Amino acid sequence: MCGIVGVLSKDKDAIKKVISCLKHLEYRGYDSAGVAYPYNNEIKIIKKQGRISELEKMLDFNVETNCAIAHTRWATNGKASDTNAHPHQVGKVTIVHNGIIENADELKKELEKLNYHFKSETDTEVIAALLDNLCQNDNDKISVLQKLEQKLKGSYALGILFSDDDALYAVKKDSPLILGISDDDYFIASDVPAILDYTNKYIVLEDNDIVKINTDYHIYNNDAKREIHHFAYTYDLNSKAEFPHYMLKEINEQPLVIYNLLDKYLKDDLIKLPDLSKYDQIDIVGCGSAYHTALVAKTLFEEYSDTKVSAYVASEYRYQKNFFSPHSIAIFISQSGETADTLACARQVKEKGVATLAIVNANLSSIARECDDVIYIEAGPEIAVATTKAYTAQITILSLLALKVAYQKGLVQSLDDIKQDITHIKEIIVHLINDINYIKIAKKIYQRRDIFFIGRLIDYAIALEGSLKLKEISYIHSETYPAGELKHGTISLIEENSPVIAVITYDKTIDKTISNIKEVKARGAYNIILTNQDLDNEAFDYVIKIPKVNAFLDPIISIIPLQLLAYYVARLNGCDIDKPRNLAKSVTVE
Ligand code: GLU
Repeated sequence: MCGIVGVLSKDKDAIKKVISCLKHLEYRGYDSAGVAYPYNNEIKIIKKQGRISELEKMLDFNVETNCAIAHTRWATNGKASDTNAHPHQVGKVTIVHNGIIENADELKKELEKLNYHFKSETDTEVIAALLDNLCQNDNDKISVLQKLEQKLKGSYALGILFSDDDALYAVKKDSPLILGISDDDYFIASDVPAILDYTNKYIVLEDNDIVKINTDYHIYNNDAKREIHHFAYTYDLNSKAEFPHYMLKEINEQPLVIYNLLDKYLKDDLIKLPDLSKYDQIDIVGCGSAYHTALVAKTLFEEYSDTKVSAYVASEYRYQKNFFSPHSIAIFISQSGETADTLACARQVKEKGVATLAIVNANLSSIARECDDVIYIEAGPEIAVATTKAYTAQITILSLLALKVAYQKGLVQSLDDIKQDITHIKEIIVHLINDINYIKIAKKIYQRRDIFFIGRLIDYAIALEGSLKLKEISYIHSETYPAGELKHGTISLIEENSPVIAVITYDKTIDKTISNIKEVKARGAYNIILTNQDLDNEAFDYVIKIPKVNAFLDPIISIIPLQLLAYYVARLNGCDIDKPRNLAKSVTVE
């Protein structure tokens, strides 16, 4: 969600650098982009609604400057427009901002009384005006920024230029920001991939840090000793390789990502992950697909490991009454590790003295740092907004955690069977990706307005994710129902040729779900069945057959055909698959 970049370079090529960094944040989702740099004793701003490629057309890359800030906006306060795009400038202050200022209306009224007039609808312009006002009586920029921090409520990562100062400044609270360091340049950025073309050395900034960069960098905070990290991942961020979209590339990375995790953590007769058997209550919290992984985990833990698990949407969990025992643990799932609602839940739970575990992809992200323990899913950077490999990697870790509990409790006697399946898992997934004619199925359904998904228990959790994938990237309305619930409402929506996609992998509920499929067939539905069983029925219009594996591995593979179906439906509809409209990859606002 939104990307901030700032560059201070020894060379005079800051515009080129800041734009190339910004492009690596495109994956986060945005609706407008802009850049600002010092030029002829003033700060020049160029900004535009739409893609970075549109902005590039307006830029003169021959302009020599050693400093620039840039931004991709994901509108929160005010619509997507050229005027609302960042940077915002008031008086001597020019800023880019990620986050939401909660007391912006209040501050705006006060500033209007002081004769400030606002061009945009954004909370960001209010910060710029406030900062300009604070500068009136104070020449010390650090002291001004400290005063700013005291006045702002909400979340912000800011890149700041002053027209009367050569340095690049940054401030952060509750929105991610890193400081990149190379021999020739300093960077600020919302995420590490932004800087990797230039350096792999970075510092993770902490809340209330104020950074000043000129010939050197300095971090002002009470205890500002920050470790310099080296990003070790050798992933080719620039290239989709032979794939037309990052989403397809990332789907194809799943065999290796999943295998590597299983191979790393399941060794001999040990599962080298935290032991959750000592907890009598496990809450799993996430948003979007991460919430769906919690639902999958709930059925795995309850059915096979005799352990009660509750799955929660983070934005609800924060505001509801939570019940903890001395043996509770809360698990927080987030690809970016920066999901604002999930982070807020983790902080809240930790304050209550409850054990916390993070399952995240991004190294050293806020959720990873703030929980008692962390398991990295090691999926590598995920560029497509719609998650695929991070989702299956999260499921892989949760499955192993559930398996470990089952093994500790003696409910699973031996790991030999699962180890046997793991030796074939790569081939199984590669086969699923390549050998099913997804285009053929997609052609049947891509022009429909509504697509329904059904399943029971773990199949329902998988169906939810399949439906989310489809609607995220193809913009086709889709609903998911526990199969037995259909006739309590949604069945009224079924009409001639309505696609109904049923997931049937869970032994206990096969017959019941087949009955539900017959019910919709009788009302004209076009039924697509995803199953690992040998099933045949005249109510089935198309069967996607997946292999039967160990129950702990089933959910890892059953989602894969649904990811590909969503992908091809979106492709046939000509959608912007990697950057679907309105969506952000890393949702850093609440
Ligand atoms: N709240 C700011 C705006 O709406 C920043 C949004 C963002 O993080 O992109 O302009």
